[in-house]
Amino acid sequence: AQLPAVTVVGLGPMGRAMAGTLLDHAVPVTVFNRTASRADAAVAAGARRAITAKDALDAADLVIVSLTHYRAMYDLLESAADRLAGKVLVNLSSGTPREAERAAAWAVRHGAEFLTGGIMVPATLVGDDTAYAFYSGPREVLDRWSDTLALLARPEYVGADPGLALLWYQALLDLFMTTLVGTSHAAALMKSAGVQAETFLPYASDLLAQMPFFLDGAAEEIDRREYPDVGASLAMMAAGIDHIATTSEDAQIDSRLPAAVRDLYRRALDLGFGGHGSGSVYEAIVAPAQ
Ligand code: NDP
Repeated sequence: AQLPAVTVVGLGPMGRAMAGTLLDHAVPVTVFNRTASRADAAVAAGARRAITAKDALDAADLVIVSLTHYRAMYDLLESAADRLAGKVLVNLSSGTPREAERAAAWAVRHGAEFLTGGIMVPATLVGDDTAYAFYSGPREVLDRWSDTLALLARPEYVGADPGLALLWYQALLDLFMTTLVGTSHAAALMKSAGVQAETFLPYASDLLAQMPFFLDGAAEEIDRREYPDVGASLAMMAAGIDHIATTSEDAQIDSRLPAAVRDLYRRALDLGFGGHGSGSVYEAIVAPAQ
């Protein structure tokens, strides 16, 4: 059976990939974008072009929003807010949990239902078997639209609070981005001695592949807030990162990343965790220095 029509608002790489995936599954799609010309490819592939926000909202019961930030949603749709009644708005844009809460309240005030989404793949993998997205908001709304949304990414429901999907999304991006920046920093350290990234990065990949081993037991440690020393004490790690910060300064590269990590280990030392396992740095993160 044919799935109901969808409007896609926002045609950056993600919105274009979503519109394309829906069209591939014979879903009737209307597209709406601030810069109208960016809709040309989707229109050539069979989408309908909405010229106004009113047109975009009237075209389908499900409206998927994929914009740079939450503010853009208001910039685009506020003028037609009186057409929101009875619609389901699914915002898959980046934002903060608070922004999602305000957006949900805004949508509900105008008679719409609202789901927050956080999609965990790049545009090239939208619609792929590996793709998944966190959703929060009213469960029955996700259930009602899950056949359509599952075409883009496997839905993972994380709770009724509208902010939750973005918190999950951000937590994983927090890890992702700090890992990428850590990799760039390590490469810069090696480059200061003339070692090419091409030579160094295979070792970085090996280390990242070993990370599950280092995370073994971390969940229990954090949930119980007990950090047994199984061969890597906090004091040992604090000394090691101190050396990395100093070496970065000596190499005249930016040392703020290792210095920030060093400061967290130092703070955990101050809290008395020197003889505990290095996972006790968690205590410094949840009890920041005043
Ligand atoms: P872009 O930042 O390229 O999205 C641009 C879209 O936002 C365009 O449609 C643009 O319109 C619109 N836009 C921006 N500001 C405004 C505004 N003030 N008013 C109206 N429209 C505006 O992002 P992507 O397509 O790459 O991603 C979309 C969302 O998905 C982002 O929130 C991103 O963080 C998230 N995401 C992206 C991933 C990726 O790999 N790209 C992966 C996972 C999530 P115009 O064309 O007129 O400029």
